[in-house]
Amino acid sequence: MGAATTTASAPPRECDLAVVGAGIVGLAAARELALRHPGARVAVLERESRLGAHQTTHSSGVIHAGIYYRPGSLKARLCVAGARELYGYCDERGIPARRAGKVIVAVRPEELPRLDELERRGRENGVPGLRRIGPDDLGEIEPHARGLAALHSPATGVVDFGRVAEAFASDLTAGGGTVHTGCAVRTTRAGEAGIELEHAAGTTRARAAVLCAGAWSDRLAVAAGAPADPRIVPFRGAFLRLRDGRSHLVRTSIYPVPDPELPFLGVHLTRGLDGEVHMGPSALMVGARDAYSLRSVAGRDLRETLAWPGTRRLLRRHWRTALAEVRRAASRRAMVAELRRFVPELRTGDVEFGFAGVRAQALARDGTLVDDFVVSRTERAVHVRNAPSPAATSALALARLIADEVEPELA
Ligand SMILES: Cc1cc2nc3c(=O)[nH]c(=O)nc-3n(C[C@H](O)[C@H](O)[C@H](O)COP(=O)(O)OP(=O)(O)OC[C@H]3O[C@@H](n4cnc5c(N)ncnc54)[C@H](O)[C@@H]3O)c2cc1C
Repeated sequence: MGAATTTASAPPRECDLAVVGAGIVGLAAARELALRHPGARVAVLERESRLGAHQTTHSSGVIHAGIYYRPGSLKARLCVAGARELYGYCDERGIPARRAGKVIVAVRPEELPRLDELERRGRENGVPGLRRIGPDDLGEIEPHARGLAALHSPATGVVDFGRVAEAFASDLTAGGGTVHTGCAVRTTRAGEAGIELEHAAGTTRARAAVLCAGAWSDRLAVAAGAPADPRIVPFRGAFLRLRDGRSHLVRTSIYPVPDPELPFLGVHLTRGLDGEVHMGPSALMVGARDAYSLRSVAGRDLRETLAWPGTRRLLRRHWRTALAEVRRAASRRAMVAELRRFVPELRTGDVEFGFAGVRAQALARDGTLVDDFVVSRTERAVHVRNAPSPAATSALALARLIADEVEPELA
């Protein structure tokens, strides 16, 4: 995604609402609040030089249907509603979004009870069109996939979340809002009269602020007086790509039955809008919150990850998984072996490096990877402290929840 055409240069000294972070969540929240309050001065402050520079443009691009999530959780509610609204929005705005469908495949007998549980969750969450299928139907949908049983979700799709974020930004600016790139917010100070955001270009005073800073969200929350728990730890997700001539191995999306202990969906194969098939992602804890390269290490990021009690507890509990992730990150062969469980024709020579993203994953002090979305408050501010997948899918619905939280400050 290129730089937005709507970027204003200097941030305002005063506005009604300041939103930190021009990822898909921040832009969706800013748009929602600008629509609710015509005439309000809404300013988005983004530290990078373009919109959606981090997770928003480094994802699988999958519109999730809402299968995996615990019924009643924010993820379950907001993903099902968000996916429906996102398809509608893309239709309206002429943004390509394809309901390609996906299969979740069980390959071992011990995965069948977990597939049952996913089916139960999907039904309770109201996922449209979900059905259980056997090997024959699986072969019809994905001729090169093998498994004992699968769930087919026709409502799962693919989209370019970067384009969606850009459309949110242009809705915002069409209504008089502004987006300011190259504007890193260092800290905030709240008081009777409002909240001040100190940034690279000076200070912006607002009636209220919404902070959607992705991988850096815990820092801004703590600076505003929120508890340190949970901390963001970065998990790098690398994707391989199927070489030309082999992409017929995958028609739609093929996912494994995930490990119920972890909030990640497991390494999968997905045909994107452009017809390319990507495979991954790995899930490796890394030394920088923007570790797009494995060699990237940022002293402060690494120190904060290592000093956090949750990190030690997580590694103690999941050391086997952590070792497997190191293997997968170091070796294409290991990643391909994992995928060959359900696409047996896949060979190491069929793949090459694709791209990498970094997940902003909240880790609690007790070592639990926080599964659900977390939105919390400090004086005059609302903080999005955990917005991992499927937050891009859920952005329109999550934006409403964030807007409801900040509403009393704007009344
Ligand atoms: C590998 C991977 C695969 C994924 N696959 C999917 C998927 O298929 N479907 C799905 O729904 N979700 C997926 N996700 C999750 C999805 O990408 C995220 O949930 C979503 O993009 C979060 O959006 P965000 O706006 O919160 O964060 P981001 O897009 O990371 O945006 C945060 C923004 O805040 C800015 N910022 C940070 N600190 C400051 C500061 N101090 N001052 C100003 N600006 C600041 C950053 O520069 C950034 O632009 C995936 C994520 C990854 C990493």
